[in-house]
Amino acid sequence: MEFGPNALFLKELIRTIPDYPKAGILFRDVTTLLKDPRGMRVVVNEMVNRYTGQPIDKVLAIEARGFIIGAPLAHQLGVGFVPVRKKGKLPGKTLGYDYALEYGTDRVEIHADALAEGERVLIVDDLIATGGTAQAAAELAKRCGAVVHECAFIIDLPDLGGRKRLEEAGHPVFTLVEFEGE
Ligand code: AMP
Repeated sequence: MEFGPNALFLKELIRTIPDYPKAGILFRDVTTLLKDPRGMRVVVNEMVNRYTGQPIDKVLAIEARGFIIGAPLAHQLGVGFVPVRKKGKLPGKTLGYDYALEYGTDRVEIHADALAEGERVLIVDDLIATGGTAQAAAELAKRCGAVVHECAFIIDLPDLGGRKRLEEAGHPVFTLVEFEGE
């Protein structure tokens, strides 16, 4: 993949914690990137630059780290923000989708009335690994009648195949950095 001039700067700000949350996982910790004032700004600006002027109605952000990037992005683009949350967190009528994670299984939910028929959504999270979470969010969007414009992440772990999986499902993927074979 081709990455922008800020990719190395961003990558160096991401901390890797081995064996979290379980043995064998290299956890890519974005808190060290987000606490850096330039890091936070560059991440949001890169996404704002990519999506300004594109036909997006809502940012669909995945709990919890997706919210951190998704909220300022929606604000800057002047579009609505819709949370995709873990099971049992949303107070209204929900639609849910069960999926497998890199570590474990989970279920995500969206308010049944969060998206209108034909709306175009940008799915946002901090990282794509197997793509299961983003795929689940995309399925929920589709069940609401919305169209997935693209899926955006700070980090791609290409060895885990998530990008390929989403692209094969017809969803374009944009990422700012990748950790391949590391
Ligand atoms: P996946 O559904 O496999 O694409 O996993 C993506 C979700 O799990 C995202 O919400 C990530 O924040 C989290 N995640 C999965 N693997 C990692 C990892 N190695 N480091 C940090 N977060 C991860």
